[in-house]
Amino acid sequence: ANALEISHLIKTYDNGFQALKGIDLQVPQGDFFALLGPNGAGKSTCLGIVSSLVNKTGGSVKVNGFDLVSQREQVKRTLGVVPQEFNFNAFEKVNDIIVQQAGYYGLPRKLAHQRAEKYLKKLDLWDKRDNQARMLSGGMKRRLMIARALVHEPSMLILDEPTAGVDIEIRRSMWVFLKELNDQGTTIILTTHYLEEAESLCRNLAIIGHGEIIAQGPTKEMLKGK
Ligand code: ADP
Ligand code: ADP
Repeated sequence: ANALEISHLIKTYDNGFQALKGIDLQVPQGDFFALLGPNGAGKSTCLGIVSSLVNKTGGSVKVNGFDLVSQREQVKRTLGVVPQEFNFNAFEKVNDIIVQQAGYYGLPRKLAHQRAEKYLKKLDLWDKRDNQARMLSGGMKRRLMIARALVHEPSMLILDEPTAGVDIEIRRSMWVFLKELNDQGTTIILTTHYLEEAESLCRNLAIIGHGEIIAQGPTKEMLKGK
């Protein structure tokens, strides 16, 4: 079965600009997939639609077999999203941000606290649990977003430029974490403009340019000679 199925996806922004010109994309369950392309190609728009942060103009999207629009609740339960912009309340404490997110998914209070501990430890943020989020470094804020996206243990995780602006050491530790998560069965889809990131992490990739899929296939074949 496919974790993600995108058919003829179109996005025209309110100003008339067509950012997606009819995209088709299938990502099988368990895959580690990259959406690669230059700035302005349409990567964020595409994942923004899958994450229900942006409304589509046309076409259809299925997440784990559920229709994005008519089966929103099911999609929400099986999907975790790490957007590009930091969108937590910076004056909240790190632990509270995770626990609140768990509440949003309806997890009981005790489980919410267990999950917060589990993922803050995994992402090396447990020491910072009582700090306000604004006190964290950029790399820590990024990891906070990942911990928050995993609190309901979704079967698919979407990350928009997860390591943008993160220094190389932290980037590598995030790669190790994401690889382990994928090994345990979570489907992962990310956007990146770092070839190296796609190359070291992703089994399959699609290259997008000017709102169209230019090429798609196994990473090894796609990046041959690059
Ligand atoms: P939607 O059609 O999904 O509702 P909108 O067209 O209303 O999206 O725009 C959403 C937001 O993005 C607006 O606040 C707008 O100011 C901002 N925006 C407009 N143009 C651009 C652009 N070229 N790149 C990024 N953001 C933009
Ligand atoms: P990428 O993530 O590949 O850098 P985006 O999906 O952010 O690309 O943007 C694709 C195109 O759509 C760009 O030309 C961008 O300026 C435009 N765009 C993005 N958001 C908006 C918006 N809200 N309104 C109008 N144009 C937008």
